Amino acid sequence: MEASKPVLLTVDDDPGVSRAVARDLRRRYGQDHRIVRAESGRQALEALREIKLRGDPVAVLLADYRMPQMSGLEFLEQAMDLFPNARRALLTAYADTDAAIQAINVIDLDHYLLKPWEPPEEKLYPVVDELLELWRAADDTPVTATQVVGHRWSARSHEVRDFLARNSVSYRWLTADQPEGRRLLEAAGLDESSVPLVVTPDGDALVDPGTEELAARVGLSTTPATDFYDTVIIGGGPAGLGAAVYAASEGLRTVLVEREATGGQAGQSSRIENYLGFPDGVSGAQLTDRARRQATKFGAEILTAADVTGLAVRGSSRVVGFADGGEVAAHTVVLATGVAYATLDVPGTDRLTGRGIFYGSAATEAPSCADEDVYVVGGANSAGQAAVFLSRHARRVTLLVRADGLERSMSHYLIRQIRDTGNIEVRPRTVVAGVAGDQHLERLTLCDAATGSTEEVPAAFLFVFIGAAPCTEWLDGVVQRDRRGFVLTGPDLLVGGKRPRGWPLDRDPYYLEGSVPGVFAAGDARANSVKRVASAVGEGAMAIQLVHRYLEAQ
Ligand SMILES: Cc1cc2nc3c(=O)[nH]c(=O)nc-3n(C[C@H](O)[C@H](O)[C@H](O)COP(=O)(O)OP(=O)(O)OC[C@H]3O[C@@H](n4cnc5c(N)ncnc54)[C@H](O)[C@@H]3O)c2cc1C
Repeated sequence: MEASKPVLLTVDDDPGVSRAVARDLRRRYGQDHRIVRAESGRQALEALREIKLRGDPVAVLLADYRMPQMSGLEFLEQAMDLFPNARRALLTAYADTDAAIQAINVIDLDHYLLKPWEPPEEKLYPVVDELLELWRAADDTPVTATQVVGHRWSARSHEVRDFLARNSVSYRWLTADQPEGRRLLEAAGLDESSVPLVVTPDGDALVDPGTEELAARVGLSTTPATDFYDTVIIGGGPAGLGAAVYAASEGLRTVLVEREATGGQAGQSSRIENYLGFPDGVSGAQLTDRARRQATKFGAEILTAADVTGLAVRGSSRVVGFADGGEVAAHTVVLATGVAYATLDVPGTDRLTGRGIFYGSAATEAPSCADEDVYVVGGANSAGQAAVFLSRHARRVTLLVRADGLERSMSHYLIRQIRDTGNIEVRPRTVVAGVAGDQHLERLTLCDAATGSTEEVPAAFLFVFIGAAPCTEWLDGVVQRDRRGFVLTGPDLLVGGKRPRGWPLDRDPYYLEGSVPGVFAAGDARANSVKRVASAVGEGAMAIQLVHRYLEAQ
């Protein structure tokens, strides 16, 4: 099927007539339009629902007036709900012209055509030409992107949108109470209770899909192409992407496994100002997109929505296990799992997460903050960036900081930006003590950390950036980690000059190598790492150097 050609649909219960109309239409309009033919109102509506889900435009509907079960008028009335911009004409016999004239008012009919219409050059084409001209003026362009229908305050709708955005899948967002949102739900035979609804560019309707299904249906790879690699990289943040670029470009068979979206924390940064080579800053999404393209250009395989839950040593193989029970093996593994956000320890936050309370990312929700007063919690760079970014959308941004000020925790360039932005207010010595709201966040209780006095403020949005913990719990008992869970590597593994327990080789672990030979760690997940994009990328590259050294010695 040609995806974006506008549709001309004709419906007539007499198969002979139906075929004849379609033939005449095809002859003149077939090159630039898709001609769809149906023999009942119900069949035609079914075809229209499918076309709606595929995002194709419908330009003209030609319906026979007298059809059993569903008349042409009834059909056109229902078709208008799906395609209000389509132009409409009735095919009538001479005796029915009165009814057709009345229909002009009832369903806003554009034309009626008397049967037979021979020759079409005189009777049919001039009418269809005019209908097409009217339709073109309405600018009903095709939808080629994935479409998401949801509720503004639904946590699942937010998660689905966030997943698509972070994986650079372009999508059109519609709320269930917008007319076009309602039309899509109707086309899929659903109502508001089924959101989020995801409609793929192929026209498949997915009701509240899980991450893995969603990833697979929007064209992201979720399972490895083969079962053995030179290196498996776990985590698709800057460290993992850096490792993937260097590994693949140097000829290693490489697979990168990411459980959510490539880019990691950096992918959620609205503007990274201190990464080498970008004097004007670069958004995390842009940097990620470039890195991912670079890695795949060199032949790295990238899996998304694949959660790694186990690592085992089988002889010289390192075997990585997935949450769904699958496995992939390699000579070496690079652990680049970074860190995950700490959550607010305040009653009620779980229920309101995704419904006004958001962790880590401000990008997806920023447009919804227009003209709102929003709150950001945290005193480090990530919170500062989010405050500056949100100030472009929101009426006022309040940055809640536990400490006396930002000087000790935030870069100076950001402090300056915040100071120069009129609609950002910094509230030092302030913590969130309570959250409240029925369907979504409505109020916050703020507490003065010095005096203990509290104040309740109305708030619809709270963005939280309060530190993070490493994503390494699944490595327990396999590789050594420090007290806080960060992976120990190289010199950190040598206690009093002694190699780690069970270490089988006659050499010390390499600089980024863990307590299991051939398993390396890079980026924020590594103990004593510098928590920066540049250092994560650098460690990813360095880990691959050490992978080569390890492989050469095998
Ligand atoms: C909002 C924000 C703004 C920032 N701004 C800057 C800045 O301006 N400059 C700067 O230098 N630094 C900045 N940082 C810090 C920087 O982003 C991090 O230091 C960097 O992203 C660390 O990279 P990483 O690859 O080690 O880990 P991460 O970026 O944390 O990536 C780890 C990835 O591994 C995945 N993962 C975790 N566990 C698993 C698993 N079991 N299976 C599969 N995948 C898994 C995660 O989903 C994630 O995508 C910012 C951080 C944040 C949050």
